Amino acid sequence: MFDLIIIGMGPAGIAASIYAKRSNLKVLCLEKGMIGGELNYIDKIDNYPGLNDISGSALAYKLLEHIDEMKIDYRFETVKDILKKDNYYEIETNKEKYTTKYIILATGRKARKLGLENEDTFLGRGISYCAICDGAFFKNKVVSVVGGGMAALEEALYLANIVKKVYLIHRRDKFNATPSIIEKIINNPKIEILYNEEVVKLNGKDHLESIELKSGKEIFTSGLFIYIGYTPNIDYLKNLDILGSKGYAIVDKNFKTKQDGIYAVGDLVEKNNYQILLAMADGITASLDVTNNLLK
Ligand SMILES: Cc1cc2nc3c(=O)[nH]c(=O)nc-3n(C[C@H](O)[C@H](O)[C@H](O)COP(=O)(O)OP(=O)(O)OC[C@H]3O[C@@H](n4cnc5c(N)ncnc54)[C@H](O)[C@@H]3O)c2cc1C
Repeated sequence: MFDLIIIGMGPAGIAASIYAKRSNLKVLCLEKGMIGGELNYIDKIDNYPGLNDISGSALAYKLLEHIDEMKIDYRFETVKDILKKDNYYEIETNKEKYTTKYIILATGRKARKLGLENEDTFLGRGISYCAICDGAFFKNKVVSVVGGGMAALEEALYLANIVKKVYLIHRRDKFNATPSIIEKIINNPKIEILYNEEVVKLNGKDHLESIELKSGKEIFTSGLFIYIGYTPNIDYLKNLDILGSKGYAIVDKNFKTKQDGIYAVGDLVEKNNYQILLAMADGITASLDVTNNLLK
């Protein structure tokens, strides 16, 4: 029986695990993908105090070094279900079953899809949700970016350094981003902005070749990078009633859900701002609360 199992090893889960280990808890972390979570998809982080120019993958590697140095127990397994028992929980993964007194859910969120026919077929064949992962495949080609928030604008700028031309397709007439990044977008000669447009159809045989817009215009594009928001990673939470109407976890000031012994932190939680340090702070707060409860 573990004192605490942390599900998800992005910034929130890792910060929680460091504090739990320092408090001498018997802690286990479970991760289905890469240590560092979304950090692995960030080109450059310039708002992390003290580390003013670090790539996301470099920060993820530093976090990995830290947990290895502390000998924190982690396993690469996907959590499938959580079952409430008398005074503990059972966690079922794709490989094992574990029992634990407390759980911190730190599974973050993933990019939302457009919901168009062929979107899954063209995934990896023109369609991408990650410019840093796939941008290099489109060197000197024409690509399109969909979205009008910070992520879409950051990725459009990143792609403009690699490709021949970027169409930036936004369904409104104004961007929802900081003035400085909007200015960079508007002044970039490689970026053509298409306001009040939506992608309605994807065309191509084996690979994406063109997209059709709401206005009827057809754009010939090798790549389509989609940044239209996120949905929380909650597939494994079907047996727990802890989510709000938008699908995110609802928590109190210590990040406790309404299920005794279960906390939710980071991007999985319904809140106004989704940032690395905020996710870490959530994880730390929850971890300290678990320790306090165990010591009672
Ligand atoms: C393109 C982009 C740029 C960004 N730029 C910045 C920036 O410059 N500055 C900043 O502060 N923030 C930035 N962010 C936001 C930041 O990355 C997130 O706020 C932060 O990563 C959230 O951390 P988290 O631990 O809550 O979730 P995540 O980082 O999403 O980690 C969740 C982890 O849970 C794992 N997981 C999911 N489901 C399961 C399961 N069933 N079983 C086991 N494991 C599971 C996932 O594989 C993942 O590793 C950016 C995000 C993106 C996408």
